[in-house]
This record gives sequence, C-alpha cells and structure tokens, in this order.
Amino acid sequence: MINTEKFAAYAKDVQAETEQIVRDLCKIPAPSHHEELRAEYCKNWFLKNGFSDVSIDEALNVVVPVNVKDNQPLTVMMAHTDTVFPDMEPMPLVEENGFIHAPGVTDDTANLAVLMVCARFFKENLPEQCGGWLFVANSCEEGLGNLKGCRKIMKTYGSGVKEFISLDSCCMNRVVTQAVGSHRYKITVKTEGGHSFGNFGNRNAIHVLASMIDLFYTVKVPVEGSSKTTYNVGLISGGTSVNTIAQEAEMMYEYRSDNKNCLAKMETFFKHTIETFRSSGVEVLVEKLGDRPCSAEIDPERFTVLRERIKNSVKEVLGLDTFEASSSTDCNIPLSMGIPAICFGVCRGKGAHTREEYLETASLSDGCRLLLDFLYRSENQK
Ligand SMILES: [Zn+2]
Repeated sequence: MINTEKFAAYAKDVQAETEQIVRDLCKIPAPSHHEELRAEYCKNWFLKNGFSDVSIDEALNVVVPVNVKDNQPLTVMMAHTDTVFPDMEPMPLVEENGFIHAPGVTDDTANLAVLMVCARFFKENLPEQCGGWLFVANSCEEGLGNLKGCRKIMKTYGSGVKEFISLDSCCMNRVVTQAVGSHRYKITVKTEGGHSFGNFGNRNAIHVLASMIDLFYTVKVPVEGSSKTTYNVGLISGGTSVNTIAQEAEMMYEYRSDNKNCLAKMETFFKHTIETFRSSGVEVLVEKLGDRPCSAEIDPERFTVLRERIKNSVKEVLGLDTFEASSSTDCNIPLSMGIPAICFGVCRGKGAHTREEYLETASLSDGCRLLLDFLYRSENQK
C-alpha cells in the first residue's frame, strides 16, 4: 500500500542523497544553451537508477519516459537544468547552519533533484492502471533560452500531452496557473553621424534612440479585466566618443502581459513606433530576442481538476493554503496550446537570480513528500 507514511519514510531515506545531487549539479555551470554537462549528469543518474529508456534530445532535454505506451495520453513533468548565470567555470557552493548557498540552487537545481528521486520512487512503485509519464530535465527555461527545451518537448509530443507540470521556484504553496507572455527585442538605430563640430546638425543615433525610448514610455498600457501589462528598456549602449555625432545606438526592450489581447495591443504600438522612425529616414534594425506566448482558452473542467489536485496535496502534506499567480515559466508553452498546466516549487529558499541565492536544506524532504503525494493523487483520481 502506498501511503503518506511510505512517502515520509522515503523522503527521510533520500534526504542525504538528494542533497548530494544538489551539490553535484550546482557545481556544474549551465547557462541557457550550454546545459550539456548537467544533461549528461542527469542522464547517467537516471541510467544508474534503473531507468532504461533515457535520452538527450537536440535541445539538450533529458527525456525519461515512465510507463509510456503508444497513443496513450501523457503527463509531462519537468524541472530545468539551465541557470541565469553566464559562468562557464565551476560555481561556488557554501554550506552552513542547514543552508546551501549557491547560484541557481533553488532555481532550479533543488526542484530538479527532488523530481529525480521522486521519479525513481514512482517508477519502482507504479500505481495500478498508471498512465504515461514523461519526466524531463529540460534546457533553456531562463531569459534568452526562450523556453527552447519546453518548446521542443511540446512540439514532439504535442496534443498527446493531457497535463503539464513544471517544478520551479522556491515556494511550495504558490501555484502558477496563468502565463505571462512577453516579446523581447534588440533595437539598433543607425544614422550618418559625423564630427561633433564639423558636421553639427547631422542626426545623432543616441538622440534618435532616446526619442524612441521617450515614446515607448508614453504608452498607456492596455487593460482588460484584472490584466497586468508592463514594459521596460533594460539596457542601452552606443556612440563612439565625446566629439563624435553617434552613428549607432542600441537598446533592449521588452513588454509583457498576462492577457493575450493586451500583448497584441502592445505589439501593434511597438510596430507603429518603429515604422514612425523608419519613415523619418532613420535606419532601425529590430531583432526579436524572445517571444513567450500568453495562455489560450483551456477547458475549465480539466484545468480545475489539476488545480484542485495540487491544492489538496499542499493542504494534506504542508497544512498550507495555495494561492494562484501569473508568471513566465515553461508552462507558457502548454498553456498557449490550451493544455492544463501548473508550476510550483518543491523546496524553500531565497534569492533566485542572484549570487546570494540559498536553499533551506531540510525543505528537500518536504518537497519530496509533497511531490509524491501529488504524483499518486494524480493516478488515483483517474
Ligand atoms: Zn526557474
């Protein structure tokens, strides 16, 4: 009989092992698009732990099918291997007083480690009438990774996926149920430039770029119901010297929304702004760096079943109430395809996306109990 006591005993048994996986993985650098070494570690771990059919796909996802049969609907569960840090050298890791300090430790290393040990328990104790599961250590969740790993999985398995779960974040009762879509751009302005004295009066690329930024910041963000829409210029550069009329200047610009109509309105405004500048004779180059879709319509009944399940697991295991949130996660892709998808964490810590990030080590066993409860609840509810 699989029950809560079994989950608790297993979580206790594997605490040290899970910690060790966290330590090992944290030290392996893995910026988006360079997850090779982490992927290799995960693949070897799954093979050593009795999973036979383990592969790394061309997007560097480690794909681990459990009980997958032809034409059977699939549940996908993933945690990502990449980090926001560009470092290619081994990352520092410090442990003290029950905490592990390391960049990327909660986002998403600890969640991945919990996924690994729970997938093993699940495989060794398959429920009767178990459905097909795809466990994935996926690539490219962060920033300019642009969800490449998840896109590849959803392209491969597409409409065969009936539910999708992403393990991400260091909060166990916050459940992401809505996608924040975004478009990200690099915009380069080019002008004739010249000598600051001799060619005074020529157009200055920095001045043009600044005017464009000014225009971006005049937009009144669209609103629909309780939607939230934002924009940001996050980086600028350009020019040659103090006595040169700048020939080139560039910026990185993004807008986001949890409502797809609002996102579309922002896109219209953006395109219109670019066209206005182009029609004044300035050369404007636009490179799209990222495109994350918003949620589409999702069958409310099926979606509720999934949301209720995590709500009940969190209440049962941790005694906490869940709250729902919008965010940009791997769930953006399945949600944009109308597939019920949720994202939650199976660890506790702080400081994601900073070098001061840390994990509360003992939270791994809470995460393990939560995830096992969720996995078996999923099968028992069919
Ligand atoms: Zn993450």
